[in-house]
Amino acid sequence: MAGIFLKRQGHHVTILEQASSSEREGVAAGIGQTDHVKRFFEEHDHLSHVPIGVPCESVRILNPQTTEVASLWPYKGSTTTWDAAYYRLRANFNGLRSSYCMDPPDLTADAGSGMYETGKRVVDVSAPDGGKVRLTVQDVATAQTQHREADIVIAADGANSSMRRQLQPSLQREEPGYVIWRGTVPTSSLSQALLDKIEGHLIAYPMRYSYIIIYTIPGNNGTLKPGERAINLAWYSWPSSRQQRDDILTDTDGRMHRTTLPKGKMKPEVWAHQLEQARRMIHPLLVEIVEKIEEPFVSVISSFSSTKARYFNDRLFFIGDALTQCRPHSGQGTNLAAMDAMLLSQVMNGRLTAAEWERTVLETRERERLRANVIGSWYLCSWWSIVVNLAWFGLCLGRQLLWRWWRRLSSSQTTGSKPKSA
Ligand SMILES: Cc1cc2nc3c(=O)[nH]c(=O)nc-3n(C[C@H](O)[C@H](O)[C@H](O)COP(=O)(O)OP(=O)(O)OC[C@H]3O[C@@H](n4cnc5c(N)ncnc54)[C@H](O)[C@@H]3O)c2cc1C
Repeated sequence: MAGIFLKRQGHHVTILEQASSSEREGVAAGIGQTDHVKRFFEEHDHLSHVPIGVPCESVRILNPQTTEVASLWPYKGSTTTWDAAYYRLRANFNGLRSSYCMDPPDLTADAGSGMYETGKRVVDVSAPDGGKVRLTVQDVATAQTQHREADIVIAADGANSSMRRQLQPSLQREEPGYVIWRGTVPTSSLSQALLDKIEGHLIAYPMRYSYIIIYTIPGNNGTLKPGERAINLAWYSWPSSRQQRDDILTDTDGRMHRTTLPKGKMKPEVWAHQLEQARRMIHPLLVEIVEKIEEPFVSVISSFSSTKARYFNDRLFFIGDALTQCRPHSGQGTNLAAMDAMLLSQVMNGRLTAAEWERTVLETRERERLRANVIGSWYLCSWWSIVVNLAWFGLCLGRQLLWRWWRRLSSSQTTGSKPKSA
């Protein structure tokens, strides 16, 4: 998204991607398109006439005993997949043709240029003389390194960002201890009674210290046709012990994964145990989805929060998951990444200062991170943890409101005008 904005503004953008090919598979499954990311695809996607998401009308919380709707909120957005969003962005950035996007848009009107280089891993970043940023880039296939220079570097290298680890070595992840089991099932293999209840809605199914989120996503190659779509399931639960958690994350080859055990690698006995739990805990109508997942995978939930987003005299900016990671309860990962990118393009065209950008993205992300903790603890933790997380969220809101009021007061005193209320 940042690349698209900057290229259209006339910048010469090179994206360095460590994956060895442009063909990418979503590691997880669904992405909620709300707020900034929704606006991005409505206003800046040259193919916006071809929808990439399944419209979603409401969030429905089910009664766990009956599966009747216990409460309902309107949802202004749609749900898509990581791969559908990725291929659409590539079509807009450098016209990549793919099975998701057979007819990429004409990009000749873009004022700048865009290169997407795969198999290039950034291993070090510096600004030795205070001027251009110097990157050490490793060729993943040959392990050879080379140096590159850039006027501006945007570090969008995800939650395991090597650049963040280099520049903020003391930043720690917090891990509450629960995990998320995930998988998808084609709608064609599910009963009509079940589809009538869940399709077109974001379903939350609460259980004791556990909950499930279910929603509809595009099917193969991003198809939105009814009957060819898929259902995405995400089930948050606590492993019974640290040892069980390690066992869940150990794959069929005996290798233990740090954050995500990928598709196709789960030990059959681990999934058999989870299915047993599902049959015991979940209503028979919904358990059908869990039983039909063919390639389950699981991730440990974590979050972290940076306190700095710009380096080297505003020549390096962190955005997306590289900057701050929220627990996934509020579904904000892609949305916040879109916000960072949109606002950064305003820094590049002089409508926002780098300091204002940093303050806005850090404040918004910290609020979202603490809000996600409240949602997570509501369904997964004891009342005490809910109170603690609510208190942190309240403190954060209070502090940010006070700061905002203070800034307005200071700026009105400098300009001599009457302050507006905070
Ligand atoms: C392959 C993949 C699939 C995903 N699938 C889903 C999904 O289905 N649903 C969902 O909700 N979220 C998914 N996510 C996460 C989600 O996309 C992000 O939370 C969100 O979009 C924020 O994006 P980001 O660009 O900050 O980080 P990411 O999406 O994590 O992207 C970071 C990119 O940087 C590359 N990279 C990392 N380190 C280096 C390095 N040193 N040098 C060069 N390149 C590097 C990675 O290969 C990756 O392509 C996925 C992420 C990835 C990488």
